[in-house]
Amino acid sequence: MKEAKKIIYLDYHSTTPVDPRVAEKVFHTMTTNFGNASSVDHEIGDRAEAAIKQATCYVADLVGASPRDIIFTSGSTESINLAVQGTVIHLEQYGIKPRIAISTVEHKAVLDTCTALHKQGRIELITIGLDSQARIDLTQLKQACAIGINLLCIMAANNEVGTIYPIDKIAHIAQRYEVPFLCDASQTVGKTPICFNDWGITLLSISAHKFYGPQGVGALVVRHGYPLAPLLYGGGHQRGLRSGTLNLPGIVGLGEACRLRSIEMAVDGQEIEDKRDRLQQMLTERIPGLVINGDQENRLVGNLHISVPGIPNSAIIARVRNQLAISTGSACSSGVEAPSHVLRAMNLPEPVIEGSLRIGLGKFTTESDIIQAAERLSQAVLDISWIY
Ligand code: PLP
Repeated sequence: MKEAKKIIYLDYHSTTPVDPRVAEKVFHTMTTNFGNASSVDHEIGDRAEAAIKQATCYVADLVGASPRDIIFTSGSTESINLAVQGTVIHLEQYGIKPRIAISTVEHKAVLDTCTALHKQGRIELITIGLDSQARIDLTQLKQACAIGINLLCIMAANNEVGTIYPIDKIAHIAQRYEVPFLCDASQTVGKTPICFNDWGITLLSISAHKFYGPQGVGALVVRHGYPLAPLLYGGGHQRGLRSGTLNLPGIVGLGEACRLRSIEMAVDGQEIEDKRDRLQQMLTERIPGLVINGDQENRLVGNLHISVPGIPNSAIIARVRNQLAISTGSACSSGVEAPSHVLRAMNLPEPVIEGSLRIGLGKFTTESDIIQAAERLSQAVLDISWIY
């Protein structure tokens, strides 16, 4: 029997493999240090509490925040919901209908939460435009802040085209107009430095599975004193902001992933960028008319978002799906037949949108992966190009 080809994983924006060093800590916590961090009557509980404290420090260190400001959640979707809905519910108690400004390329966790609140008549929604490389219009952002808004939501980097936003500048503008600023940093934590305190960010969402930690765990950093209403009621854990027994193995995994990223992200980042650039060059040489999307001067090092205009991305994916793990868009929307809202917001031509593919590299991507991926992808395009 012919041996099946190894599938090359190039979908790191969707999720990342867990670093074996992180997995080891998670396993140890699940089997040995398994206590409930709220059990105050025995040492097993004390040890669990100590492990949570240690993880809290690692998370805070990585993003330049204070440990007291970290709230653990099930991931960025929950963190964002807590930040947005928690702000709205708090303000509603004072009879205020909040005005929220978002960019049009935010993740669905932000977009759909805000759209739902808007449909319920509970918020006013302002959208901030972008150009064809998904770069934000800072003048428009400043104008939105100047009219008075209750929350500004801008991601640190886009999960599809990889464009990185000037979060320090945006936080500065928000502060000048005393606007609370929620930064969805799901794609940047552990990849580029973030200084929560120094930059003056109000709320920051983190997701462990985007940087070699486990799925289903994350955090919301909440600036000290920022008023938020909880979404979950129960045992009053985490200062009453997020009730529920703490996910000890997950949080230990998140903490260890943060500790490793603090030490390794600069070196890893350079290596990933070199491989991405090589892959981009090989694909450009082999696929005539290939388009590179996003801001090439300022994008995530592992991001390569391409279009083969005129050839539907679904046809390419169908051809390579058992050899190559790449995607047509974000993990949440790629199961749906709708074109990407990000590429639409960038106002790209229809054939570019239809032929778009997201490739994501990470620290486990090898030189040989890159060479084989370039071969498999360019061959697939060549094989089907005569049909279109
Ligand atoms: N925000 C961005 C930019 C993302 O890429 C993702 C994950 O795809 C999320 C939010 C949601 O994160 P989670 O999977 O932790 O809920």
